[in-house]
Amino acid sequence: ARESALAARTRDHLRSPIICILGHVDTGKTKILDRIRRTNVQDAEAGGITQQIGATYFPIEAVKKEATKIEEGKKLLYNVPSLLIIDTPGHESFTNLRSRGSSLCDIAILVVDIMHGLEPQTRESIDLLKMRKTPFIVALNKIDRMYDWKAQPHNCPTRASLEKQPSHVREEFFRRVKETKLQLAEIGFNTELYWENKDVRKTVSLVPTSAITGEGMPDLLMLLMALPQRLLTERLMFTDVLEATVLEVKVIEGLGTTIDIVLTGGTIHEGDTIMVVGLDGPIVTTIRALLTPHPMKEMRVKGQYLHHKQIKAAQGIKISADGLEKAVAGTQLMVVEDANDEEEMEYVREEVMKDFQTILTSVDRSGLGVYVQASTLGSLEALLEYLRSEKIPVAGINIGPVHKRDVTKASTMLERRKEYATILAFDVPVEKEARELAESEGVQIFTADIIYHLFDQFTAYMERVKKQRREAVNDEVVFPVIAKILPQHVYNKKDPIVVGVDVLEGILRVGTPLVVRHGSEWLDIGRVASIEANKKQVVIAKKGESVAVKIQHKSTEHIMYGRHFDFNNQLVSKMSRSAIDLLKESFKEDLETEDWRLVVKLKTMFNIM
Ligand code: GDP
Repeated sequence: ARESALAARTRDHLRSPIICILGHVDTGKTKILDRIRRTNVQDAEAGGITQQIGATYFPIEAVKKEATKIEEGKKLLYNVPSLLIIDTPGHESFTNLRSRGSSLCDIAILVVDIMHGLEPQTRESIDLLKMRKTPFIVALNKIDRMYDWKAQPHNCPTRASLEKQPSHVREEFFRRVKETKLQLAEIGFNTELYWENKDVRKTVSLVPTSAITGEGMPDLLMLLMALPQRLLTERLMFTDVLEATVLEVKVIEGLGTTIDIVLTGGTIHEGDTIMVVGLDGPIVTTIRALLTPHPMKEMRVKGQYLHHKQIKAAQGIKISADGLEKAVAGTQLMVVEDANDEEEMEYVREEVMKDFQTILTSVDRSGLGVYVQASTLGSLEALLEYLRSEKIPVAGINIGPVHKRDVTKASTMLERRKEYATILAFDVPVEKEARELAESEGVQIFTADIIYHLFDQFTAYMERVKKQRREAVNDEVVFPVIAKILPQHVYNKKDPIVVGVDVLEGILRVGTPLVVRHGSEWLDIGRVASIEANKKQVVIAKKGESVAVKIQHKSTEHIMYGRHFDFNNQLVSKMSRSAIDLLKESFKEDLETEDWRLVVKLKTMFNIM
């Protein structure tokens, strides 16, 4: 009784935690949501793939009823008003639940198919979660698919269900859990089955579930309640400061263009003047209606909306207002207290556009780089962070479909650096004319709805271009080298010269023009035609190696060992400005720091500016 009094008292001060579900396609994200809310949104959708987003409000009583089926659940305080769960197809809503680079999602459920373990999008989800420092639990879903599984009815808690399984099923279960744990450990996450997890701050909890039989659902809900209590109480303290983010911009019959927002702090009212980011600058408008779906239904389930005079965080809300056509999803929404106060307007305008500004700073100032386009600001930001971590420069960004003018912009890169004449289009359509123009101009457009697929395509393309370019300049490139002739290994004095050498510094490479110092001049002695090391032909020899080198001179002047030069002369590669540029452009990885030092030294020796 004392506990519930405490729960009641704190309940007024805590907002609902916002929960996202992420994971690879077909792991059962939609089904898990459905199972909890017992509607059947998934079946109404084409191909069973979730294509829209929505938020569902789970009243705390419903959570409590399930969670208290488990011992651990009986000890919890049910002191938040509800759980607000957001459906997340393609990471969209997770990436859009953002405010200046940090996530507004409080807890994430990462769904993994226990039969498949980690899959590509699982890893991508983890990258996103890591990037945003969001605590998460892993639902190991589809346990009922294990051979011989004896499904237990009525949303049975996992451990109770496991006890009823024959020993070979339990063995398979623990083997699969172990495999997944190993895979997660490989990418840096300690995980434990939740009932063995002693420190939720350091170790991620695994919860086995079946969205079909309902097994593990009480466990999942219990963990969603337990995690905020251990990790997030401060974050969940209700504040008066309005905090909201635009999840989706949608045209609704009878309402026009609306925005779906998640209110994570403060209270919003009908009639409030709001500001959101628009493609062409900030949009100022007045809230005509604050709408929510009926309880236990998702926003996208057809039906009448409930109208509200005001709504307190946290909640998913649809806002109807004029002028929202160009609103950008993934940006923050702010309320203007007094639209006539120019000073305040200016301040809010700056605040709202800050997100956009931050993202603009990812664009390379030199104007050299690829073009990036995404459906929402959230996904654009995630993509840019990825590119930044991979050191791929970005010259321009845009939100929305790829149009002809985007291709034209990217084509300016053709002259400067061919491989950057590329558009990475994430989760957006490419217009037919844009595609055609790109083909005729030679602009590459890569499209994907998984970030790193996009990235993989681009990297593979870069490799191809690089290889081509290296091949094209193979005869012009000069690697830095200084070598010493071994007088007892002079095999041929001229046409061609064949001598044994020690590579003192740098890299001796076939094709390198060699010179020796002749007073204050440099004398060309020819190019490296071949190199032999231990009776084998090689293309390069590095510092410290002793090799035989054949040097051929293209002119008819016969350079002769013993007459024009001898072992007192060091063999030096003939550096030039253009050769250095080539090295930098296409052979960067071939040279080590030491070798670059030698380049600098040669630069001085040859008086290269
Ligand atoms: P999502 O793409 O992650 O949203 O996956 P869905 O919820 O659409 O599920 C993909 C498929 O797996 C559907 O055919 C579901 O019926 C099925 N499925 C989801 N969860 C389970 C589960 O726990 N057990 C079994 N046997 N099938 C499941």
